[in-house]
Amino acid sequence: MPSQHDDCLFCRLAHDGAHVASTKGFVAIKDINPKAPVHLLIIPERHVDSFREIGEFPAHDVKRMLEFVAETARDAGLEDYRIEVNVGAPAGQTIFHLHWHLLGHRTAAHSDQAGDLTAVTEL
Ligand code: AMP
Ligand code: ZN
Repeated sequence: MPSQHDDCLFCRLAHDGAHVASTKGFVAIKDINPKAPVHLLIIPERHVDSFREIGEFPAHDVKRMLEFVAETARDAGLEDYRIEVNVGAPAGQTIFHLHWHLLGHRTAAHSDQAGDLTAVTEL
């Protein structure tokens, strides 16, 4: 596949990783170093270095990618959450394959623990 880079970790994980969710062309994985109780990464299978190259995706795939972010959040039991994309090393980007951070706390309705709503207010 021409858009896959052999030396790219997220190309490998998009194709062979443990996915918590997937749809055609996009996957979601758990962040290995979570910065919130729920910290997922939404990764396109197609390699682009960063959000700067978003224009390389056809418009309908950009829409599907964003819808997949929202669906993944909902399926993870998140009602309120933060989406983050770091663009460039000075902004905190460490993996140069576009990905969306999805950070949140589970809502009480989906939580295994009672009283989790207090965590929601910390978002
Ligand atoms: P960024 O700093 O925005 O490029 O985000 C890269 C993210 O990838 C960080 O939050 C890392 O914790 C995460 N990460 C690095 N290696 C792995 C891995 N093997 N599996 C899952 N997440 C990873
Ligand atoms: Zn890649």
